[in-house]
Amino acid sequence: MSEAEEQRWVSVMLDKLAAQESKRVLGDSELTERAERLSAQYFDGRARPTSVRWVTNQNTRWGSCTPSEGSIRLSHRLQGMPEYVVDYVLLHELAHLLVPGHGPRFWRLLEAYPRTERARGYLEGVVAADRLPHLPAARGE
Ligand SMILES: [Zn+2]
Repeated sequence: MSEAEEQRWVSVMLDKLAAQESKRVLGDSELTERAERLSAQYFDGRARPTSVRWVTNQNTRWGSCTPSEGSIRLSHRLQGMPEYVVDYVLLHELAHLLVPGHGPRFWRLLEAYPRTERARGYLEGVVAADRLPHLPAARGE
């Protein structure tokens, strides 16, 4: 291999590694840590999640929680979506640890997060795209 070829090869491999890194899915303990950080940042640490994990059996909801246990589950369908969307769903479920239902008190909590509206729009777009049967890009299968 010439030096030029070698350098090209190295830069291709570095690009591949960077691409893998950015697509890496957070593990469950990282998700829990992230939820704790979000709670500290937006809810003064009042929401105290005990566990946050991905689940694959949740196709109609993005997230769910059991307030009595402090456990939060996120749909694996969120994997690969932008971070601000995953953070929004985490905050949404964290807020449910404090306020059940979707009344004004609930949405007031989420107003603290500046990307709530944008994230909700993104998720609505995903749902809408799923309903368009003739767009090949919208469906994985
Ligand atoms: Zn909700």
